[in-house]
Amino acid sequence: MKPYLKRAWAEVSLSQLKKNIGIIKGLNSPSTQVMAVVKADAYGHGYERVVQCLSEECGIKWFAVSNLDEAIAVREYCPDAEILILGYTPPEYAHEISQYNIIQGVVSADYAEALCKNSPDTVRCHIKIDTGMGRIGLRYSQPSECAAEIASMINIEKLSVEGIYTHFAVADSDSPDNIAYTDKQEKFITDTYDELVKLGIKLPHMHFMNSAATCYRNNQRSTLSRAGIIIYGLHPDISLPIPEGLEPIMELKAVISQVKTVPAGTCISYGRTFVSDREMRIATVTIGYADGYSRLLSSKGEILVHGKRCRIVGRVCMDQLMIDVSDVPEACSGDIVTLIGKDGNERITADDLASVYGTIGYEVVCGISKRVPRIYID
Ligand SMILES: *Cc1c(COP(=O)(O)O)cnc(C)c1O
Repeated sequence: MKPYLKRAWAEVSLSQLKKNIGIIKGLNSPSTQVMAVVKADAYGHGYERVVQCLSEECGIKWFAVSNLDEAIAVREYCPDAEILILGYTPPEYAHEISQYNIIQGVVSADYAEALCKNSPDTVRCHIKIDTGMGRIGLRYSQPSECAAEIASMINIEKLSVEGIYTHFAVADSDSPDNIAYTDKQEKFITDTYDELVKLGIKLPHMHFMNSAATCYRNNQRSTLSRAGIIIYGLHPDISLPIPEGLEPIMELKAVISQVKTVPAGTCISYGRTFVSDREMRIATVTIGYADGYSRLLSSKGEILVHGKRCRIVGRVCMDQLMIDVSDVPEACSGDIVTLIGKDGNERITADDLASVYGTIGYEVVCGISKRVPRIYID
């Protein structure tokens, strides 16, 4: 293990990552390959080691990223993988898309033409259809119109159209209304594909499954499952269970720098929002909002110390925070504490933290800052 400063760090389990991939592959039909979504530094887990593990040890051949910088970074580790950019690349960088053999998500004929004008070589693409997310892609009310537009885009010089895809807005919900909405999105893209077939166009790829769809509405017609959050063992939506065996791969740890006993009436941290109502043992912990541990957890979050839950008291500072260790007499300076992860019989997940302050696990893991070294265990 590379030496690192034991102040605040994230431990990532590559063996659990491999287990998660095995489970995800088992959810898919044989006609569907996993496209590992590794945007945003592999959802904050560190793309280098994650991508290497996925490519070399899990046999993943498809990756999705958000932009060209991420795509080139993944290409370094995977000379033969297929890499799809889900987001925008300015047309003036089109030659790099070609040079690195990357597939660009294309949202309109105009955009496709601008890319091709800026590259001396073939530009590979998958065409994005907006079937209800309202974000990016071709938007049509009829699959036949959408197919006609795609058919005409295929004639753009130097453009290689290799697939179509769409993104679900509410596949992580089990309300009948939302299920019907996702059904409609799914029907639109499969109907568009079928209309293209009628026109004599049989594209190698059509994909629409994200993590939620992979878990709850797996469909063999999706040639790829764009699995993101479940790779990392978190929930698309906290209220719905995920398949057995998928477990978080990251733990977040820090240490106690000082413990002191304070009398009743002692103010703790900025703003004096917390005042002890009795004698208490207060421990200071070496992590703060600059590490991505949100200030919204002030006086709300809990931290595991010697297998017990200890409440944050007062405001989370930039680099430090304070907790009540009155019930953990053995707590002392230098002890390792767990902000995300397991300690004894207790566990706090990124999803749990997210629900404490009203966000999603995605934001918690992506938000763990650069200052926090990622340590790869087992
Ligand atoms: C981020 C993203 C995904 C992955 O979503 P998860 O919910 O993490 O599985 C899939 N497709 C697109 C277009 C995305 O932007």
